[in-house]
Amino acid sequence: MSFNSGLDIERSYHTATAEPEPRHPILTAKIDADLVVIGGGCTGLSAALNAAERGLKVVLVEGGRVGWGASGRNGGQMIVGLCKTACELVKLLGRERARALFDLALEAWGLVLDLIKRHAMNCDLRKTVHPIGTASAGDMTRFEHEIECLATIMNCPLMRILSAAEVRVAVDAPYHGGLFDGGHMLPLNYTLALAQAAAAAGVMFHERSVVRRLDSRNGIRAETAFGAVRARRAVLAGHALLKRIHLPIESRIMPIGSYIVDNEPLANAAAVIPSNAAVSDTRFIRCRPTAGCCLAESATCPARRPTSGTSFAHTSRGLSSSSSISYACGGLASVTTSRLPHVGRDGDMYFAHGCSGLGVILSTLVGKLLVEAIAD
Ligand SMILES: Cc1cc2nc3c(=O)[nH]c(=O)nc-3n(C[C@H](O)[C@H](O)[C@H](O)COP(=O)(O)OP(=O)(O)OC[C@H]3O[C@@H](n4cnc5c(N)ncnc54)[C@H](O)[C@@H]3O)c2cc1C
Repeated sequence: MSFNSGLDIERSYHTATAEPEPRHPILTAKIDADLVVIGGGCTGLSAALNAAERGLKVVLVEGGRVGWGASGRNGGQMIVGLCKTACELVKLLGRERARALFDLALEAWGLVLDLIKRHAMNCDLRKTVHPIGTASAGDMTRFEHEIECLATIMNCPLMRILSAAEVRVAVDAPYHGGLFDGGHMLPLNYTLALAQAAAAAGVMFHERSVVRRLDSRNGIRAETAFGAVRARRAVLAGHALLKRIHLPIESRIMPIGSYIVDNEPLANAAAVIPSNAAVSDTRFIRCRPTAGCCLAESATCPARRPTSGTSFAHTSRGLSSSSSISYACGGLASVTTSRLPHVGRDGDMYFAHGCSGLGVILSTLVGKLLVEAIAD
């Protein structure tokens, strides 16, 4: 079992539908670079791609396999926003800063769509609406406030209310709800395509090379069991899997277990989600149609050391159909105490984590922002 292969990713729908991927060598030498990136998920890959495109010599060191962290095993739901609602952001930060942050969330959506197009990524992108079902009447009132805040303060008519009848047109479930613009895709294929773009831009990759020690006293030195990278700067993109190499940053990370199940193909799949959209509800249950007409669903539950059995059972209970499960996997996502992404620097070390359940599009943006900070 490799560093990031736990919780059954080998038996997931994601790996079953993955594009062929190159294997990269273990780091066995001492090499010099402008930038060392630790972590081969979307945050690290996006940082590596952007840095290489700016002409930097970049080495990316991944403890397990590229893409096998949260980035390659998530629900693939492309939800525009930050991990707080627009109303919460305004309350916390005031109108101007809230709007500036929200603009970044919109930029992230455009950035990912642009990358998929520019690099002709084969990740089954589906740009659809994103219905969100409400579990209680109180949720509906919150949705109404949110819509008003989005329209008046964020300048963004991104969401609208749906009646129960309108929800039925999108998904066969007894919801009231709201509707966002959004989409979904195969996350492992997107992540692997991002790695391919980074490799084409000149990034050197090393897999199965866990960084065990990070020294930043005189430039950066990232040490693995058999080699080391000396660089002017580092990007720490280890997300929920970082292991005791920079405690001040890691102490802000709370790993959350999240689980995905795919059911056997349904005879009436098209009738279950006629809109072909990814759907979520206010109980943290998410669902999306997959190419083989299966439905994938994920649910999160706080767990420092998740055990797959009980969590898969919890997720399966959320699945409305009675068909059996063909794939199941889980993973860790990093959540911060503020629920907002934690992006910053400590000297020559730049870091980003905490995109929570919105990292499918946000993590690509934060990786790019880190490189803009490094360059500027
Ligand atoms: C099951 C699940 C479902 C999810 N569903 C969704 C969804 O539907 N929509 C959405 O927007 N978000 C979702 N998320 C969240 C999203 O996947 C994450 O926010 C995002 O992928 C984080 O990307 P990352 O690059 O920061 O981290 P990761 O993809 O986890 O990458 C971090 C990498 O760093 C490596 N690493 C760590 N420490 C070291 C070290 N010391 N040395 C070398 N390498 C190291 C790890 O092996 C790993 O590969 C989900 C997450 C999970 C787990």
